[in-house]
Amino acid sequence: MTDQRIYNFNAGPAALPLSVLEEIRSSFLNFKNSGMSITEISHRSSYFDGVINDAVKRAKRLLKLSDRYHVLFIQGGASLQFAMVPMNLLSKGETADYINTGTWSTKAINEAQNMGKSVHVVASSEDKNFSYIPREISFNKESKFVHLTSNNTIKGTQFSDFPDTGGIPIVADMSSDIFSRPLDMEKFGMIYAGAQKNLGPSGTCMVIIRKDLLDSVNNDLPAMLKYSTYSSKNSMYNTPPCFGIYTISLVLKWIEEQMGGIDKVEEHNITKADLIYDHIDASSFYKATAEKDSRSLMNITFRLPNEDLEKTFVEQASKRGLGGLKGHRSVGGCRASIYNAATMESIYALIEFMESFEKENK
Ligand SMILES: *Cc1c(COP(=O)(O)O)cnc(C)c1O
Repeated sequence: MTDQRIYNFNAGPAALPLSVLEEIRSSFLNFKNSGMSITEISHRSSYFDGVINDAVKRAKRLLKLSDRYHVLFIQGGASLQFAMVPMNLLSKGETADYINTGTWSTKAINEAQNMGKSVHVVASSEDKNFSYIPREISFNKESKFVHLTSNNTIKGTQFSDFPDTGGIPIVADMSSDIFSRPLDMEKFGMIYAGAQKNLGPSGTCMVIIRKDLLDSVNNDLPAMLKYSTYSSKNSMYNTPPCFGIYTISLVLKWIEEQMGGIDKVEEHNITKADLIYDHIDASSFYKATAEKDSRSLMNITFRLPNEDLEKTFVEQASKRGLGGLKGHRSVGGCRASIYNAATMESIYALIEFMESFEKENK
């Protein structure tokens, strides 16, 4: 227990910028002089129109999206998209290519296959426990899209650049690295991201979809499972996740106004990750688990000499106000998640702790 805010390295839900939380607090009881909180106003009011339109506008500006892209907010987290993507985008007789780089990609593949959709796994790094990003992939020309996970939150790997698919649109799960770096949007037909890593509270998923894919959506789907329902109603066919969308708008405002845009965010993320990886590489006590050229700037996965030490490391870190350093239960080890909101101060605190822990336990 503590009355202080901790250095939060949680993988998701994860740390949000302090200034965003403060703004939420200060406007909570009376949002924009409406006399109501954001959780009480009508989603059909001009107050909420302002919020959702601001979130969409900022997302478009940050990623330099042309008018061909729609920004949608859908509930059900990123996991619902594992089903919605093939459901909406693959008709009878159509196929898609999937790249398998870890737990989340595997789930996306299973979901598509369970629905009886025709998907080909064209590359996988499962042979080495997903510790790398496959390169030199050949794609099936007739594929409708190529699905990949841009950052593998659990395994600590990330696509540093995206494969040349020969023009086939990429559909990317960017849950854990959206808005962490600029993107060449030409390659992407769709991007989706559960909010709880880099954007806001869990439950809301941001979906960015290009018009040609949107126009191809299967029509015989339930309204709530169809992208066109969301695009034709500005994501307000039913009551949207208002608080989530509001927080996302504030996080995007923070990127634009306080971080100085997405290029600056990327620079900051590289600096932060390099500091930690350099420290790990210089030590014989800590060992990074991802291959060097595949390392994630968002989730740093590492091991200590044995599991007992890992357990003690996580416990002692927690006592010193550094939280969330335990690796995912499926892989063990340690993981420091350092999304956009992770501060320089928290990185230095982590490195200092790693140094002293090594000295005491070597
Ligand atoms: C966390 C995460 C998910 C799952 O998100 P939910 O919102 O819990 O469904 C999917 N993909 C990636 C890459 C993630 O990091």
